[in-house]
Amino acid sequence: MIMGGRVSDLVLLNENGIRCDGRKIDEPRRIMIKAGVLKNADGSAYIEFGENKIIAGVFGPRDVHPKHMSDTDTGILRCRYHMSPFSVEERKKPAPSRREIEISKVLKEALLPAVMLEQFPRTAVDVYIEVLQADGGSRCAALDAASVALADAGIPMRDMVSAIAAGKVADTIVLDVNNEEDQAGQADMPVGYMPNMDKVTLIQLDGILTQDEYKKCVQTAIDGCKLVYEVQKKALNEKFFSNGAKA
Ligand code: ADP
Repeated sequence: MIMGGRVSDLVLLNENGIRCDGRKIDEPRRIMIKAGVLKNADGSAYIEFGENKIIAGVFGPRDVHPKHMSDTDTGILRCRYHMSPFSVEERKKPAPSRREIEISKVLKEALLPAVMLEQFPRTAVDVYIEVLQADGGSRCAALDAASVALADAGIPMRDMVSAIAAGKVADTIVLDVNNEEDQAGQADMPVGYMPNMDKVTLIQLDGILTQDEYKKCVQTAIDGCKLVYEVQKKALNEKFFSNGAKA
């Protein structure tokens, strides 16, 4: 299907190193995050990551139901990633798909190292993620929004988790794979990373890479996560330190 970076008439990377949406190889899509967007949640965030539009709401620490799920030594984290039926071109059935169940699990595991739930035994922190519009890289954008929502909820955290994907497109390692590149490219690697702790909390790989490409892909994604981290901090600063901040 892929011939010299072309899929039908789509040029994934042109001779000047420009991608199908006009970006350079190490350029992320536009990222905008707003913290504290939901009145009824303890913490929340809205993210626009390219054409992805995602909202995250955090509730807790609160009582665990059903009770047998609680842990006497620590709090538990529950995470639900859900795509709205109108988030993709063809209507998505509202019932949780295998993909959504998998993403919910990996997002929970990516966030767990960041949150200090040992301070809240017998409680649960619930993270609800609603994808309003998806365009490739939605799990990374969801993780970025969930981190900000957890911080907005005042959950003690070791660090923020920042996430972005890197991948291989037309034999080149690129930052922040979009939907076309994901469908037609050679590899997609979502990475979640805690910048201050220098710790990777999520890494998945769809595709095949050589050892050198793998290393370059991880480093490209980590450098991208550091850019995302600045946007996350800005969102929290705007919420808590701008003149319009509520008490
Ligand atoms: P991610 O969104 O984290 O990149 P995937 O690689 O599984 O996750 O999906 C890539 C993209 O494919 C999504 O962002 C979305 O745009 C599209 N997609 C996912 N699920 C569906 C679906 N059920 N119907 C149509 N498009 C979908």
